[in-house]
Amino acid sequence: MAARPEPQLDLAAARRRMIDQHLKARGINSTRVLDAMEHVPRERFVPAELAAEAYADQALGIDCGQTISQPYIVALMSEALELSGTEHVLEIGTGSGYQTAVLAELSGDVVTVERHERLQRHAQQILHDRGHNNIRFIVADGSQGWPAESPYDRIIVTAAATQCPPVLLEQLRDGGILVGPFGPSDGQILQAIRKIDNRTYPVPLTPCRFVPLISQDEIPL
Ligand code: SAH
Repeated sequence: MAARPEPQLDLAAARRRMIDQHLKARGINSTRVLDAMEHVPRERFVPAELAAEAYADQALGIDCGQTISQPYIVALMSEALELSGTEHVLEIGTGSGYQTAVLAELSGDVVTVERHERLQRHAQQILHDRGHNNIRFIVADGSQGWPAESPYDRIIVTAAATQCPPVLLEQLRDGGILVGPFGPSDGQILQAIRKIDNRTYPVPLTPCRFVPLISQDEIPL
């Protein structure tokens, strides 16, 4: 009888397929982004019972009724941020911490804000175990940004808002880029917004659907 393949190898093969079929084939061509996503073990960031689906072409459910974004969306957002390796980045919506890990590979440092303390603690543990030391974890209402460490070279919003909160654009450095999903709750457009001389220049990337960005005064945890 043939030996069953090692699960580890299956996941490595699935990760390669994700890179080739879900990312490269759809136009992701930043070598830095592709390398980072080949390097980060997505299975560590999904609930244990979903590990076999970690590289599926879809978002998956995580704790607290939230989601880990589809790999293609993570890649598209990361690419749109145009990171060279030195940037000071603000992420709103840590969730599983997977996007955070990819950003930490691609930028100088990341400040990541999550409203669910439980998700934040879990993500922090995984990222600490992976040896990342360029991430600051904040439990707060990220719809207000995190002014203490502004301005940021880049801002990524991983939860949906009707429009980009102006306070986030205020915390973006001139020449910076903010990427996030903006529009009604039943479907948004992923946008890359560049700020130049205090004017904003949005570029639509793709239709998408994210869980909502919730302000502290809207719904208690
Ligand atoms: N990038 C994450 C996406 C998680 S889903 C991943 O791929 O795993 C979006 C996250 O935004 C959720 O964890 C949700 O709790 C968080 N969120 C929603 N509103 C928020 C707010 N006002 N401040 C901080 N985090 C918020």
